[in-house]
Amino acid sequence: MTTQANHLEILSVTAQGQRTVWTRIGTAFPTKDGKGYRPNPRCAGARVVNSARFDDDSCLGAKMSLELSPAGVLQREIEQAKRIVIGTHLNPDGDALGSALAMSHYLEGIHKEHALVCHHPAPRNLEFLPGIERVQQSAEGEFDLGIILDLDAYDRLGDTAPLFDRCPRTIVIDHHVPIQKPGDVRIIDTTAAATALILGRLFREMGAEFTPAISTCLLTGIVTDTGSFRYRNTSAEALSLSAFLLEHGGDINKVSEEIFQRKPLGGTRLLGHMLDTMRLAAENRIAYGVLTQADFADTGALDQDTEGFVNEMLFIDTVQIAALLREVSEGTIRCSIRSRNHLDVAAVARIFGGGGHKNAAGCTFYTSVPDAETQLVKELQRCLAFS
Ligand code: 5GP
Ligand code: MN
Repeated sequence: MTTQANHLEILSVTAQGQRTVWTRIGTAFPTKDGKGYRPNPRCAGARVVNSARFDDDSCLGAKMSLELSPAGVLQREIEQAKRIVIGTHLNPDGDALGSALAMSHYLEGIHKEHALVCHHPAPRNLEFLPGIERVQQSAEGEFDLGIILDLDAYDRLGDTAPLFDRCPRTIVIDHHVPIQKPGDVRIIDTTAAATALILGRLFREMGAEFTPAISTCLLTGIVTDTGSFRYRNTSAEALSLSAFLLEHGGDINKVSEEIFQRKPLGGTRLLGHMLDTMRLAAENRIAYGVLTQADFADTGALDQDTEGFVNEMLFIDTVQIAALLREVSEGTIRCSIRSRNHLDVAAVARIFGGGGHKNAAGCTFYTSVPDAETQLVKELQRCLAFS
């Protein structure tokens, strides 16, 4: 798999504007059996660049040059593949697994042999997703196409990376600010609220059937990444696609209930502890929490139960940047950072080898808790002062 350069960036939407590159796929010829053209100029997302009458020994009729839109390229890559492996990032969230499972349901619908892998198993609050049992930590055999959803950095594939390394082709569909630009074909829209939104858009263009399972999976990605349509990334498209998904059997009540309204007791106790011991800096404009292994042991909570904790600190009226440090094992500290408005915390996360979005990012420290805290707070203050 390509990790740098060489890739074909077929859709790249950034805050600066959209750049859709239609991909020249060569010349379409009438087939010998007279049944049509190959590639088919009427396939989804295809457009004819030029055509000419053509009459010789090899074929009779019109030959034409074709270009494909991102949806056309995706459809063509899928059609040409025999065995596909779907992947996503480690510590998967609702957008990662929702998008990956939506792709799996789509491939199942068109009878395409495939597997779905992720470094970590699903967190408890995503076990309701239709088809969740398909998520494996590894897969047997070889695949000729890898489709990776919601991935900005190659190392976030974790132990599943070798499977994709061995794929002759990989497609990445994502909405993060790219770090390493993984993938041979990249469909990237950094203005999209969720990867599920990009995928929903592509599926619609491809004329895919929106089953209740696909709709619920995509809805989960949108609801998760927009914080139930509350975050600033909530767009008209996020709302209109969600309405479309509801019309196609997406179960928004189940999604909201399972993700936001069914917390384990230990997690809620841990939230109380975090708010109790929260630290403030820069005249209450920075808030951060530190959770040690002992805190997890005392409450019986797991790291996955801390989803959303950091936002509780950001929601304080004076706070501009919030961060949460969690000691997941000795010497390994996961960090989530959130910010308001123009403050770019993805840039802070990148300093420590992480990444994410401008207002929601993360990284991992491999050091002691106090050292991670010192390093982080210094950069958060710098971010606040110089942005
Ligand atoms: P969270 O704080 O919810 O774990 O992550 C927030 C955002 O930052 C997500 O979009 C996630 O993909 C991204 N992110 C979190 N940790 C990392 C990391 O270690 N590396 C990169 N590249 N992105 C991360
Ligand atoms: Mn996402």
